[in-house]
Parts: sequence; structure tokens; C-alpha cells
Amino acid sequence: MSAVAAAGFDAQGELGDDARVAAAMRGFLRDLGATGALHLDACVRCGQCAKACHFHTTTGEAKYTPIYKLEPLRRAWLREASPFAPLVRALGWVKPPGIDELHEWQELLYDSCTLCGRCTLACPMGIDIAELVKQARHGLFEAGLVPARLALMDRAARQWGSTATPGEDLPDILAEVAAEHGVEIPCDLERADILVTAAPAELSDHTKSLADAAKILNRIGARWTMHREGFDASNIGYNNGDIALQEKLTRALVDTALKIGAKTVILPECGHAYGAARWEAARWYGKAPPVRIVHMTEYLDELIASGRIRVKPIAATATFHDPCQIVRRGGLEAAARRVLAALGFELIELADHGLTGYCCGGGGGVVSNPRAAPLRQKVFELKREQVQATGAKRLVTSCGQCRITLEMGARQAQWDKPVESLLELVADNLAD
Ligand code: SF4
Ligand code: SF4
Repeated sequence: MSAVAAAGFDAQGELGDDARVAAAMRGFLRDLGATGALHLDACVRCGQCAKACHFHTTTGEAKYTPIYKLEPLRRAWLREASPFAPLVRALGWVKPPGIDELHEWQELLYDSCTLCGRCTLACPMGIDIAELVKQARHGLFEAGLVPARLALMDRAARQWGSTATPGEDLPDILAEVAAEHGVEIPCDLERADILVTAAPAELSDHTKSLADAAKILNRIGARWTMHREGFDASNIGYNNGDIALQEKLTRALVDTALKIGAKTVILPECGHAYGAARWEAARWYGKAPPVRIVHMTEYLDELIASGRIRVKPIAATATFHDPCQIVRRGGLEAAARRVLAALGFELIELADHGLTGYCCGGGGGVVSNPRAAPLRQKVFELKREQVQATGAKRLVTSCGQCRITLEMGARQAQWDKPVESLLELVADNLAD
């Protein structure tokens, strides 16, 4: 048994310690590129990223300083790929990361980083720490040092193309959701204009979101379908550092859309799915993706703005939790607010909102990692305080994973505050 497994941290496969370190070093550097290397060399130790990170501010622990999370990656680069790498190695200026450090960094890279990008925004040197954490996760993935639950989900997605279900079961699942909610959900149509995708939770616990998307698309008479060959807007490869898996998952969506002639892929209310498909797809195709990929919030905003759907106003105050990947990393700050305004809400913003909003605490796979639950709960308290300070009656968000995280936090804190989905609010309030 390796030192890592003996120490209680999670490890996969049978590699010995030296082989794990070697695999991690290769994985750290595989896609680093000139920009990443420049960023690793640019830190001026100002500490702004520490003040920006919810894990650091809620615990006060120095080890949660964002740039510190990149230390093994930085050392790998200095020793193996920097301009002075041969000299650095020959003179022993920088030690290579050892197995004990990789063991320690599993917590820093997976449990205490949600890839939210708040530190990136705060850094005066423009260092994209969130992107580099993703790169560092690739090293740990290659070394077989991923938290156990995430590794399990990875295996399911590799086998099934989804963390939720094999594609062959999709027609039956959709038939059940359709019957439960009284909507038609087309599946496996040979030709359609729009390919609709789902977050894994929408195929199990949050089926109302899926049914509500169907209700809206049916209302406008769209020619749309879901499809067993590309249905799961999964981000598991993106979160785990399993780059090959993420390419396979994202290509399944885009290639299925092309196969059925769809010009548009609609992504569900999921933040990391938006990052993984909308922005990373270009990496796999070497150019802008050959179909339009839109988040559900964008799509709702367009339908309302064009008059294709109308909504009945709700007379209430609301506050909005900005999902990091959709707003800060994705640029959709205004779209959600236009939809909220169309719904007639009086919006009371959180103290930190929009581009500078705090993460729910569960992004980047943290919500699926039970080991991280106590840390996640500390971050939840920060969000709860901000929500309570608004005095708003309703709490709305546009990411199913944020919703799950906030609901888990509320249950744990015995806080009676429902978290509502923007999509479900629109569907529930469609005007004739
Ligand atoms: S990406 Fe977010 S969670 Fe990760 S280090 Fe930066 S601020 Fe902290
Ligand atoms: S904010 Fe940027 S420059 Fe300042 S310590 Fe963090 S990474 Fe370094």
C-alpha cells in the first residue's frame, strides 16, 4: 500500500509513490502553455487573492491562500519547463513535489477550491488562479489522487457517457418524467432544430426543471429533442482534471447536435456545464464550436425579450445568488436580472453580487465530495448572512448545483429558506 493510501487520503490504481509523483509532474505540465507559465512566474505576493477566497476568509487558514494551492504546479514548472530548468535541477534550487505533498494538496486542490475565479478577478497581476487549479488537478488525476466520490463519478461517466445513467435508459427516464409532470419530452428524434441537455440531477431529483424546460419549448412550438447519444451536460471531467473525459463528454453534445441538424444546444441550469461546454468546446474543435451553445438563462432572456413567451408578474422581493461559472466566468450577469425583472421581482442585491459574488461553496465538484462538507458549511454561512441581510422574501438562482449546495447548507443549519430556480419560476408563471 502506498504512503498516500495508508495516510487515509484517497488514491486510485496500483501505482507506487514514485510513479505517482512522475505522473503528476507530467500531468501538471501537459497543457500549461506560455500563458500559464507566465502566470506562475508573475505573483508579487500581495495577498489580494487570499482576501477574495471564501475558504480563506471563512477559516483564516493560510493554507487556503489561492496562490499557495499552485505550489506543486509552480515547482514542477520551475524544475521541468522553465527557461532555467536544467540549472534549477542541477543546483537543487527547487525541490520536486514529493508524495506527501501531493497527498496534502489533494485537499487544497479539490476540497477547498470551487474553481470560482473570485481570486482571479482580484489578482492585480491578472493571474488566472482558477484555471491553473484546474491544470493542477490534471496532475493529481494522472497520479490517481482524486477524492474517492469524484473518482467514482469519473468511472461512471467514462463507461456511460454520463454520471447519471447509460444513454440507453434515457428514453425510459424521460417517459417517466413526462408522465409525472404531464408534458411531452421528445427523445431521439432524427431531425430537430434544438438539442436540449440535462444536468445529472435533473434526471433524478430535480426532474421538475427538465419538465419545465419542455413546457416552455413546447409552448413556443420549437422543434426540439433530447438524445441518448448526447444528453448529459456533464462537467465531471472538467472538475476532476480528466481532460480526455471532458473532451469526450463535450464532443458527444456537439456531435449529436450536428448529426440531427440542430443549430442550437441548450445547456441546463448548471454552472460548470456552461464552462465545460460553452467555453471549453472551442479547445476541442480548434475554433468556435460549429453549433450555438446557450445556457438556459440566456435562452429564457431571449424568449422574453422577443415576446415569444410572456410571464405573469410576481409581487415580491427577491435576492439572487450569482452562479460563478455563469456570471463571473461566463458573462451572464445581466440576463438573469432581466428575467427577474420580467417576473416582476423587486431585486435586493446581496452585499457581494454579480462579478464579485461569493460562490455557494459547492462548485468544482466540492458538493459531490463528502469529505469537504464541514468546509463547505463554513462557506454556506457567509452566503446565509448575506441573504438574511437583504431581508428579501425569495432566494433565486440559475444553477442546479448551487441550488443543491444551498439546500444542503440550509438543511444543516436548520434555516427555513427555499432556494428557487429561475427556470421553474418562468415556467410556473407563463402567461397565456
Ligand atoms: S477559484 Fe475560488 S475557491 Fe478556488 S482559490 Fe480562487 S477564490 Fe478560492
Ligand atoms: S493576488 Fe495575484 S499577485 Fe497577489 S498574491 Fe495572489 S496570485 Fe500573487
